[in-house]
Amino acid sequence: MQQRTLAQPVTLTGIGLHSGQNVTLNLCPSDINSGIHFIRSDIAGAPRIAADAFLVKDTVMSSNLEVDNIKVGTVEHLLSAIAGIGIDNLRIKVSAAELPIMDGSAIAYTQCLLNAGIKEQAAAKPFMRILKPIRVTDGEKWAQIVPFNGYQLTFEIDFAHPAIPKETQQLHFCFSSQNFLAQISSARTFGFMKDIEYLQRHNLALGGSLDNAIVLDDERIMNTTGLRHPDEFVRHKILDAIGDLYLAKYSLIGHFSAYKSGHALNNQLVRALYADKNNFEIVTFDDKRLPPIDYSL
Ligand SMILES: [Zn+2]
Repeated sequence: MQQRTLAQPVTLTGIGLHSGQNVTLNLCPSDINSGIHFIRSDIAGAPRIAADAFLVKDTVMSSNLEVDNIKVGTVEHLLSAIAGIGIDNLRIKVSAAELPIMDGSAIAYTQCLLNAGIKEQAAAKPFMRILKPIRVTDGEKWAQIVPFNGYQLTFEIDFAHPAIPKETQQLHFCFSSQNFLAQISSARTFGFMKDIEYLQRHNLALGGSLDNAIVLDDERIMNTTGLRHPDEFVRHKILDAIGDLYLAKYSLIGHFSAYKSGHALNNQLVRALYADKNNFEIVTFDDKRLPPIDYSL
């Protein structure tokens, strides 16, 4: 299995969830072993920020990278699309301090990447194979990753809300690129009306609307078009986790599971993984030995 980048650059525009301002993204092919980098094209000198869990400074509402006061926010949905398609190397030029929210899912990003075309590169794709169970907790919330020959994600949320039936609140997902595209990429972020009103009074979520999130009041879903999947909420939590975990800088071989986790715990899990080099090994696969994860598109 070879490393992947884009066949050609591609541009995408949308609005930032928090600023409400227009944001332009240029996704550009990048060299072997260069990884995923963001470049703030609106700042003199075009500073670079690596997609690295250790550069996450703020996890309120989203995963936000920061180096020397230079920020790139809400990176998880694009990173989820990049991880889902198995792209290893990419330069992402962004014209603002946050990525565009698009429709609140990763579908616009995945379509954009696939439209640009995927280029296989002349070097083996590195994977991070989990060797020991790692678990992080925060009160009743937890996230863990354990050894498993493949990539699976099991997630449970717990909302006491009449529009989120109990039986739609857990999901076990067997990762492959095709399963990601079919089952996860279109699941939208969600929020509660009372929280959104609070955020907007504090000048946050100014770009938030029914066009880029599922919004719930105390009883029902306010979007007239309803849900894309009966369990769209937990699917989105898996979408977020795939993006947050890609900040480990490798595609994972292991089984992630979580209860009520979010960006903060997902980030702590990646940091805990790196805390002991015996927790993982970096492996590659050649023609004779196939990877245990299917990235065919
Ligand atoms: Zn999200």
